[in-house]
Amino acid sequence: MFALMQSTRTQSLHLFIDPPTGLKAVVVIHNDQLGPAMGGCRYLPYADDESAMTDAIRLAQGMSYKAALAGLPMGGGKAVIVRNPHVENRAALFEAFGRFVDTLQGRFITAVDSGTSTLDMDCIAQATAHVTSTTASGDPSPHAAMGVFAGIRATSMARLGSDNLEGLRVAVQGLGNVGYALAEQLHVAGAELLVSDLDSGKVRLAVEQFNAQPVAHEALVSTPCDIFAPCGVGPVLNGQSVMQLRCAAVAGSANNQLTTLQVADQLEKRGILYAPDYVINAGGLIYVALTYRGESLTTITSHLARIPSRLTEVFAHAQAEKRSPARVAHTLAERLLYG
Ligand code: NAD
Repeated sequence: MFALMQSTRTQSLHLFIDPPTGLKAVVVIHNDQLGPAMGGCRYLPYADDESAMTDAIRLAQGMSYKAALAGLPMGGGKAVIVRNPHVENRAALFEAFGRFVDTLQGRFITAVDSGTSTLDMDCIAQATAHVTSTTASGDPSPHAAMGVFAGIRATSMARLGSDNLEGLRVAVQGLGNVGYALAEQLHVAGAELLVSDLDSGKVRLAVEQFNAQPVAHEALVSTPCDIFAPCGVGPVLNGQSVMQLRCAAVAGSANNQLTTLQVADQLEKRGILYAPDYVINAGGLIYVALTYRGESLTTITSHLARIPSRLTEVFAHAQAEKRSPARVAHTLAERLLYG
């Protein structure tokens, strides 16, 4: 774990347990150079403790890069609570987690992420002020989806020469809080949807509501489409899956889509334009960070509207430098963080 912390320049890793509630949690503060570390709280099952810590470290690093590139006065962090099937009192578990967040004295601020809801954030808020996306401050997912939708239009413009999504075939992998809202916007814009989710109920709903075409989740990656939009959980782009892709571009909400930066080079070689995840999916962080700071909805909306132009700028640099957009975004973010 120390080697991973060193290679990712992670500042600190905190482990918490609370036997009475069954809580096992990891908080990672990756970098607080630009402001307090902000990061969502995941509540998911993990194969082992090491996978939970590795996930938290990689996600926290992505948050630092995301905040820096979005021009937010925030650092990057992440929380992972290992999902325990035997937990009897979910509210007590999240409140216990809130007590631990409070011990970090504002160096870490948490929010909704995969597997958690605004109600869970309300429970955390019983014990600490360092939480946002409560029921009162609102769910960031629709804002994340809005940013990804605008980013898909910018990606389409850069790769296909038009931002008109009418008739474009978009494969949405994962119909959770962000993926479903994105699918709705794509449908309204006239895109043809191919969808998959591990939960067949969500797929059925998208078929009914958006006339989407269901695809088995293991087959979506290799289904011909214009844009592949990963909106599930975990790194979906690896050496093998990239060779299976049959699309012009990849642009979706999922965090940490690439297993390594070399995978981005492979995409580049195959002529597939990659929208760096932490650039296109910054809408959620923009919403929670600015809400936490008490900014108005007008300020938040104008900040969100900058996502497509930032992406277009990354694409332009990438084209000029003949490098993957992922490498360009990485260099830009590191320059902002480390000078
Ligand atoms: P969620 O937990 O609500 O939804 C994820 C969905 O993906 C679930 O329905 C799950 O069944 C499905 N899924 C997981 N793996 C899959 C696979 N291999 N194939 C098909 N379906 C799969 O999560 P969410 O809040 O919608 O977030 C989705 C992604 O976007 C995550 O990676 C998250 O970190 C990222 N993200 C979320 C936000 C936000 O505001 N919620 C902001 C930025 C980034």
